[in-house]
Amino acid sequence: MTNPLLQDWTTPFQIAPFAEISDDDFAPALEEALAAHLAEIDAIAQNPVAPTFENTIEAMEGAGEMLGNVLSVFYTIAGADSNPKRQELQRDFSPKLSAHSSAINGNAALFARVETLWAARDTLDLNEEQARVLMLTHRGFVRAGAALTGDNDATMTKVKSRLAVLGTEFVQNLLKDESDWVMPLSEEALAELPEFVQDAAQAAGTDKDAGGPVVTLSRSLIVPFLQFSPRRDLREKAYNAWAARGANGGETDNRGIAGETLKLRETRAKLLGYPDFAHYKLETEMAGTPDAVRDLLMQVWEPAKAQANKDAAILENLLHKDGFEGPLEPWDWRYYSEARRKAEHDLDEAILKPYLQLERMIDASFSCASRLFGLEFKELDLPLYHEDCRVWEVTKKGEHIALFIGDYFARGSKRSGAWCSAMRAQARKPKRQTPIVINVCNFAKPSAGKPALLSYDDARTLFHEFGHALHQMLSDVEYESVSGTSVARDFVELPSQLYEHWLEVPEVLSEFATHADTGEPMPQELLDKVLGAATYDMGFATVEYVASALVDLAFHVGDAPADPMQKQAQVLESIGMPHAIGMRHATPQFAHVFAGDGYSSGYYSYMWSEVMDADAFEAFEEIGDPFDTQTAKRLADTVLSSGGSKDAKELYLAFRGRMPGVDALLKGRGLAA
Ligand SMILES: [Zn+2]
Repeated sequence: MTNPLLQDWTTPFQIAPFAEISDDDFAPALEEALAAHLAEIDAIAQNPVAPTFENTIEAMEGAGEMLGNVLSVFYTIAGADSNPKRQELQRDFSPKLSAHSSAINGNAALFARVETLWAARDTLDLNEEQARVLMLTHRGFVRAGAALTGDNDATMTKVKSRLAVLGTEFVQNLLKDESDWVMPLSEEALAELPEFVQDAAQAAGTDKDAGGPVVTLSRSLIVPFLQFSPRRDLREKAYNAWAARGANGGETDNRGIAGETLKLRETRAKLLGYPDFAHYKLETEMAGTPDAVRDLLMQVWEPAKAQANKDAAILENLLHKDGFEGPLEPWDWRYYSEARRKAEHDLDEAILKPYLQLERMIDASFSCASRLFGLEFKELDLPLYHEDCRVWEVTKKGEHIALFIGDYFARGSKRSGAWCSAMRAQARKPKRQTPIVINVCNFAKPSAGKPALLSYDDARTLFHEFGHALHQMLSDVEYESVSGTSVARDFVELPSQLYEHWLEVPEVLSEFATHADTGEPMPQELLDKVLGAATYDMGFATVEYVASALVDLAFHVGDAPADPMQKQAQVLESIGMPHAIGMRHATPQFAHVFAGDGYSSGYYSYMWSEVMDADAFEAFEEIGDPFDTQTAKRLADTVLSSGGSKDAKELYLAFRGRMPGVDALLKGRGLAA
């Protein structure tokens, strides 16, 4: 039997032949692909010809194609459609992959060639992108510990392998705690909810085989439940279960994992000569240092907290009017905030929701990309990994640009949240390849025959992830390692957060926000309310986010805390965290920080990017046309097509002509004094 993962794919656009792949194919395919990649790397390292950019750096860029295929398929379905077998494979794979990259980074002959090229960089006649790829490759080796020897080298290998295992366990524990908990709803409790929450609770009950409607810990169900249920006892129960994910004691408890992870990260940073993990991590970011991050966060924190405290007093008053005594609690905030929104802004999510049909919002995101960047989308019928997935061919002036896959609905086998990944990234050298990009979301699936409806938050998520997809699809660089979203972590959210602004453009909403039953466009009055309400409750949103970002940073500056939960409490105390607001992600659920290294001491980066996205969208507003072609072209030519082939600051300056400050952000969030 031939393994379909290891063949040359003759499918349309060389998309993975999902229908032919079974779970039993992954383990043998991984073994063979790892060996093939190591053989390629070894041939480069042992090449008797003196190192050149082409025979070393470019050859490394081209190596590991088979491995890339195996991993892109596996991690796509492991995230979006898992099962016990796939979870087991994930646990097996992570130490193997960690050992694999250690083997490459620890290949002394290979590192010697890179060092030779690095030392001779000024004489190699490299173009700008090649020079940057060489710098990044060299820096990558050094940061991975290639210069370490003896005991230090052995310790580093162990530390990294253990960190990979801990990251996987953290996510799996969270998924288990999320999928294990359900709260049945009585007929009375169900009847008090708006229809779309009732539908979602019914669908969740069917999905869980619960014999009736339930609330689950999926963000797309629990958040609307907390927002709309007048039953304070049920809100408290649901909120506490949500807040306890990963901290329930027993086998799925993440608190010990968090502590061990932080300690190992500290060890790793010190071995490499950094004072702590945050300094190590921020070296490669646009922000540069922990102080720069803290400065930015605190500039935002104080105005956000002031606004949140004002709002809390108003909400507490509403609580007391309902006959409850005592302080406003975290399970009350969303409910009374919704009540206040109705009273003050008269924007009822339940009235708004029929205007936000998933299908129309997808069209809206495509239409904006068409007007701004000349992209066209045509839906195709290709076999994918789940029946809910859809795929479009993306073209520009008739030329194939990319494939775009959308996997929109929540299901028990999908991890929570929303994300964008490239199953294949754009590159021209050593081989030309066009991107295959996927957006995964967790929107509530409607019952049969009904259209999928989104909350305004969901619609923003759709635009956000599509912004990431554009960064991948418009990428136009030579080398894959600097393609698309392969940029500094605190720069990667710029395209996604910037794209959210087009959802708020009035002509976009009036064209695409049409009522599911009547087909009528959203009335002007409702449209005004939507746009006016965009900054509503921003004190809350900013506080829950910035608190998480400050805790993340504190975890990684100085010595690792012996007890992360205690450290978390200390940080919250020191910044005066409002009582009725929880962290957006408390430590035992903070997958951004503990599922891997990605956002560790980097959770601030969403806000760093928001500083830029507010400022960047102003470039269109200054001209008075959100679809100004010149500005869109400049955005595509600088930020969106360049990936990481240039320094992030340089790209931003090329687009905007200057660096932004926090004022645009505070104004955008309605927090300016
Ligand atoms: Zn994002």
